[in-house]
Amino acid sequence: MRSSLLFVLLLSLKCGFGQAISSNAPKTENQDDLARIVGYSMMSGGASRFLETLSDQIGGRITGSPESKATADLILHTLKDAGFENAHFEDYTINPGWQHGPATGAVISPVHRDLYVASYGWAPGTPGPVEVPVADIGASADGHSPLPDRVRGAAVLVDLGSNGLSTNYVATRHLLARQLASAGAVAMFIVSDKPDRMLYTSAFLIYPRGPLPIVSIAKEDAAFLRRLLNHGPVKIRLDIQNSFSNGPVSERNVVADLGKDPNEMVLLTAHFDAWDPAQGANDNGGEVATVLEAARILKALNIQPRHTIRFVFFSGEEQSDLGSRAYVAQHKQELDKIRAVFNTDAGIQAPLGFKLYGRTDLEASTRKLISPLAALGADRVFTDADFDSDEESFMVVGVPAYSLAVEPGDYYARHHTIIDTFERIDPRMLSLHTAVLAAAGYTFANAEERPGRRFTPAEVKQLLQRTGLESLYELDYPGEKPY
Ligand SMILES: [Zn+2]
Repeated sequence: MRSSLLFVLLLSLKCGFGQAISSNAPKTENQDDLARIVGYSMMSGGASRFLETLSDQIGGRITGSPESKATADLILHTLKDAGFENAHFEDYTINPGWQHGPATGAVISPVHRDLYVASYGWAPGTPGPVEVPVADIGASADGHSPLPDRVRGAAVLVDLGSNGLSTNYVATRHLLARQLASAGAVAMFIVSDKPDRMLYTSAFLIYPRGPLPIVSIAKEDAAFLRRLLNHGPVKIRLDIQNSFSNGPVSERNVVADLGKDPNEMVLLTAHFDAWDPAQGANDNGGEVATVLEAARILKALNIQPRHTIRFVFFSGEEQSDLGSRAYVAQHKQELDKIRAVFNTDAGIQAPLGFKLYGRTDLEASTRKLISPLAALGADRVFTDADFDSDEESFMVVGVPAYSLAVEPGDYYARHHTIIDTFERIDPRMLSLHTAVLAAAGYTFANAEERPGRRFTPAEVKQLLQRTGLESLYELDYPGEKPY
């Protein structure tokens, strides 16, 4: 037994396993930098501390609100403290602004019972309390086929299949809301698919102004209404007190640069606006915290990649990427200088690698560039495409756009709900995300070659066709195209 063990040891030394350990060969500068970046990221705890402050001191932060402004202030202050003297705001406007008022609903006939309801964003309120019948059209409507007459004057229950992000669901919601409004419905009640009587909110394709009150109703409460409807007419009282601003409201992105190469840069980005049922810890406070901590660590370690790393914190993502669209418009002249954009908005679950949004031309170079992330389990590439977040604004103008891919976990159960709270975020994952983002930003900014080139408008068009995103793109950019 002893001799065979010695044989295995000798063999492993000869075959390289032992060689790597005993080798005195100097590490490359890259490897050394990466080891320092990852080590500091795993030990600093800075992302978790920032997220606790953001979650508990500010909480929900709807675009255009005082809380959103306070968040931009906090991010700028943190960047300045970290030594980013160039950190600054970039202003833009949204129109209109929207205030989230209280929403209540109750059955008043044939019984009396409160309902669990909440308003979608940028949807109007009711003109005071209204008493209306309930009509149920279930999952039958697709936004195109004719609606039954009973929707007129009614609160209309609809099933859209998913409250998660999916291309068809969002487009159908948009079309059906318009159709219900023109048919004279008083409110659209979208049955929540969240567990445990939770509600959902969103403003994607509802901004700038929903055509009628759009309400999330708990699945259990919708089932109750349907049981009552089986026995006869049902009447509810509904009072939604949202309001819109008269005219534009100012908003801000926050931008800071590491390095001074005016000709090439890599962007690390995250949106800081969040819905207000809870704290927006997973969507998207956690990623704001990790991008901010990546910036702080790269600065503290005096890492100087060949090209600039720019950190951009967007507001307005939840209203259809308003902050990143404003950024793209304001930086139109320098879009050719962007090597890659890394957006982060899928929650603080285990990182797996990067999504390429259909850019298969980037696959080989990306695999090579992120190969050092294998040790963190984050070296996979995913070529599927969707319009999920701010990467869309860059994808549609041809800039190589990536997002951090993560295990789904329970992201969609808590996304935009009352349980998007700080204590549900695993601090180990915050450290790991910080490490992956800082390392990817550094690797891409330090590489001799770009991962690929900017697509032409014709190539973007082909990409949208190939990935099945063309019709959503038309809905999302109904007017002038960005490219
Ligand atoms: Zn988000």
